[in-house]
Amino acid sequence: MAAQRLVVVGGDAAGMSAASRARRLRGPGELEITAFERGRFTSYSACGIPYWAGGVVDGPDALIARTPEEHRDRGIDVRMRTEVTALDLQGRRVLAHDLDSGEERWHGFDHLVLATGARPVRPPLEGIDAPGVHGVQTLDDGRALVDALDGGAAGRRAVVVGAGYIGVEMAEALVRRGYAVTVVERSAQPMATLDPDMGELVRDAMTGMGIEVVTDTEVTAVRTGPDGRVRAVATADREYPADVVVLGLGVRPETTLARAAGLPLGASGGLLTDRSMRVRGHENVWAGGDCTEVLDLVSGRTRHIALGTHANKHGQVIGTNVAGGHATFPGVVGTAVSKVCDLEIARTGLLEAQAREEGLRYVSATVESTSRAGYYPGARPMTVKMLAEHGTGRLLGVQIVGREGAAKRVDVAAVALTAGMTVDQMTSLDLGYAPPFSPVWDPVLVAARRAAAEVAAAS
Ligand SMILES: Cc1cc2nc3c(=O)[nH]c(=O)nc-3n(C[C@H](O)[C@H](O)[C@H](O)COP(=O)(O)OP(=O)(O)OC[C@H]3O[C@@H](n4cnc5c(N)ncnc54)[C@H](O)[C@@H]3O)c2cc1C
Repeated sequence: MAAQRLVVVGGDAAGMSAASRARRLRGPGELEITAFERGRFTSYSACGIPYWAGGVVDGPDALIARTPEEHRDRGIDVRMRTEVTALDLQGRRVLAHDLDSGEERWHGFDHLVLATGARPVRPPLEGIDAPGVHGVQTLDDGRALVDALDGGAAGRRAVVVGAGYIGVEMAEALVRRGYAVTVVERSAQPMATLDPDMGELVRDAMTGMGIEVVTDTEVTAVRTGPDGRVRAVATADREYPADVVVLGLGVRPETTLARAAGLPLGASGGLLTDRSMRVRGHENVWAGGDCTEVLDLVSGRTRHIALGTHANKHGQVIGTNVAGGHATFPGVVGTAVSKVCDLEIARTGLLEAQAREEGLRYVSATVESTSRAGYYPGARPMTVKMLAEHGTGRLLGVQIVGREGAAKRVDVAAVALTAGMTVDQMTSLDLGYAPPFSPVWDPVLVAARRAAAEVAAAS
């Protein structure tokens, strides 16, 4: 029997995880795998760019998990600098455009994996393409930024546009490089992925680190000097001088090809799949990673959440299914962690605003605790906020802001959410304790106790 043909569009987390998994399960005699990537890298970690920019890790090589050559050695035909420009689903073929030679060729498939990722938001502002304005989506972006920072003298000014997690991570990188940093954010608080009260803790900490945080403010233009280079970022009220500007305005699913081919898209423009990551209604078309919407298990809705942790899991599931196995991706609970300098930021589940949108009645509890036993050296403060459903006490969400040891505590809450636990059930979780690691009541347990008391008081 002739080998089946798997075509993958997009050579990073979701695409190459799918290709690698399928190859592990099926040899070249059974499955021919071709992956098209328009860039110059495969299996790279954009997540590491802020730490490369900040000089914490080396790049770009250390951020590449597997090069095109390594994939080829494993029997995956990787075509670099090749963009897929059209899908012919009826004819089961994709049009591949070699960006160097200009050559275009149709390539047939039995299974198609769409793993085209997301594209950064880049508003059409005056001056936005000026030298000195940097995105941080790709390793090429990272290289350009690192070169610019290496060439810059300390004491210069940087403006980060957007105070989501990428914006705050980039603020840290620029602080580390000796820049005076201003972050300009349209929302009322940094980290709009947190409730306002928790976002204010992030603002206070950033301000304490010497980072200027400007909120409720939209950038209206990027000003350039006589040499054409960036000079300042303009808002309605004033200009913020800048030698370097970094854009962290979020991303949208890259589904241009999918849309043109008539594949089903959700409200965000992300592809809709079933639990096996098969595009809804299309037997042999699969999609994963940032180009898809994921099922939020707490709200029951699909949402666009662009995270590498999902993309890698999607790829594994797709690869298994394409190879004839059976795997599913049940959904997410909305867990994300991040940091700015020594401040750790974590969330999982619903925010207050999201709970209200879902029509849920809830109680909330916020507690102050410490990362270690209070008497143990190095104990640092930590704020934990917990939301529980009114009446039932079902855990709805947790946010944590604190210093060392704060972020990954949210994983306990993520597991509790996945298991559908009540806050009362959480109070007796058998979490590890010794003075160097936590107080005898871990901060998550303290929050659960307080939330359980609130549930009881409200019932
Ligand atoms: C600065 C930064 C920090 C991040 N930090 C974290 C973090 O800490 N934790 C976390 O979980 N996530 C993080 N992420 C997000 C994470 O990097 C993404 O979720 C992940 O890379 C998504 O993988 P993907 O394979 O879906 O898409 P991508 O990584 O975007 O890969 C898609 C690939 O498809 C290629 N492509 C697109 N269209 C075509 C086409 N038509 N033809 C050929 N090739 C095409 C693109 O060139 C790209 O290489 C971060 C992202 C950034 C930018």
